[in-house]
Amino acid sequence: MKALDELTFDNRFARLGDAFSTHVLPEPLDAPRLVVASNAAMALLDLDPAVAETPVFAELFGGHTLWAEAEPRAMVYSGHQFGGYTPQLGDGRGLLLGEVYNEAGEHWDLHLKGAGMTPYSRMGDGRAVLRSSIREFLASEALHALGIPSSRALCVIGSDTPVWREKQERGAMVLRMAPSHIRFGHFEYFYYTKKPEQQAILAEHVLNLHYPECREQPEPYLAMFREIVERNAELIAKWQAYGFCHGVMNTDNMSILGITFDFGPFAFLDDFDAHFICNHSDHEGRYSFSNQVPIGQWNLSALAQALTPFISVDALKETLGLYLPLYQANYLDLMRRRMGLTTAEDDDQKLVERLLQLMQNSGVDYTLFFRRLGDESAALAVARLRDDFVDLAGFDAWAELYKARVARDGEYSEEQRRKRMHAVNPLYILRNYLAQNAITAAESGDYSEVRRLHEVLSKPFGEQPGMEQYAQRPPDWGKHLEISCSS
Ligand code: AMP
Ligand code: MG
Repeated sequence: MKALDELTFDNRFARLGDAFSTHVLPEPLDAPRLVVASNAAMALLDLDPAVAETPVFAELFGGHTLWAEAEPRAMVYSGHQFGGYTPQLGDGRGLLLGEVYNEAGEHWDLHLKGAGMTPYSRMGDGRAVLRSSIREFLASEALHALGIPSSRALCVIGSDTPVWREKQERGAMVLRMAPSHIRFGHFEYFYYTKKPEQQAILAEHVLNLHYPECREQPEPYLAMFREIVERNAELIAKWQAYGFCHGVMNTDNMSILGITFDFGPFAFLDDFDAHFICNHSDHEGRYSFSNQVPIGQWNLSALAQALTPFISVDALKETLGLYLPLYQANYLDLMRRRMGLTTAEDDDQKLVERLLQLMQNSGVDYTLFFRRLGDESAALAVARLRDDFVDLAGFDAWAELYKARVARDGEYSEEQRRKRMHAVNPLYILRNYLAQNAITAAESGDYSEVRRLHEVLSKPFGEQPGMEQYAQRPPDWGKHLEISCSS
């Protein structure tokens, strides 16, 4: 276990120089205080969890002090936002404080979000509010606990600093961690500004640090692109299988590592709705739940365009063609598991589609349906779930197919079935209304609810006695919350 001043830094991105990032110091928050910290994320840095409660922790991550070895930098990038190219973006309110190695030799970027203005702030104030910082913290750690690759969050620091959004709110900072903060938009920036030398330096950097095994391949850059395509297909399959809607899949929010990145008006589905749009400024539904699949490919093709100086167009196209089949195979595999199936049959895709259509028509809770499907034998479970459906004849027809399919799958006890299904079907997910309750309490100075919710979501598959209220469908007020995009 380390104390805060014992972290080891090796700031490899900062060393790439001023063409890639700009030195900027964090702008401190007034009266910084710990809102919540993640022990699991602390462990990634070998930090003793007790240090989170010390005043120096809030001062560090509230922008007051810095390690001597930290080199805070704002990164430059660009990206396609809602389909249109924005030539210059960058860390407008976040700073890469430095890169830390843990005892296992893993390397983590420490990125402080809400740290004040930078050369890339454009019209923004460089701040993040408590509300959005709590949402990012909870989502990062909850996704990780579900087994969905994501950036991590070490802590949220609250403050008295006033910040104006639709109304006056309080500023906060969230300390985000990832093995890299490089986005698709980094490559696009150097491609569209016609800086081939810097682009090559960036590509070498990503290849050496994050895809070293691709060096062994005849065409290392092509192998790296292929790996990025594969990781994105797997990631988006997980989002779709678990009902996660990102909301702002701009290419500047897509990680080069294929992890969930940059949280805004995201949501987990309550009722299943393929057309769900969580971002209320997304009037055309570009980033609706079901569109995440083709948008994943669109984003990869934007990255491919930026890689044309290194890889032939034919090879890029061929590799892009892997995305959809890979996505489908991954998605179907996850859905089979969610349905308790251990074997594969040709018609399984249809079985899933029919179920989702029925759930859509009846507004069935996506998470609880699968959890309850595993509570008992297939026959008993479908008999109990039947009441949730409006189209009873439709559900009965599906239930017959499902029971027959389960029978063909193999012989196992109810207990085996429950164990297997509960291990992949969470009981607790980050519903918007749960986040909202925690935020409302935190805004009035009570951080206990954020901390409790974080605890519950860190073990989403196990039943937690006394926590039944976190495993409920939303109350009426919590069903269609409009999550502000101004974060
Ligand atoms: P986002 O929609 O959060 O992914 O941000 C898009 C771009 O706007 C990024 O370059 C951000 O750094 C920048 N940005 C977002 N909010 C702010 C803010 N409050 N101040 C400065 N820049 C911001
Ligand atoms: Mg962003």
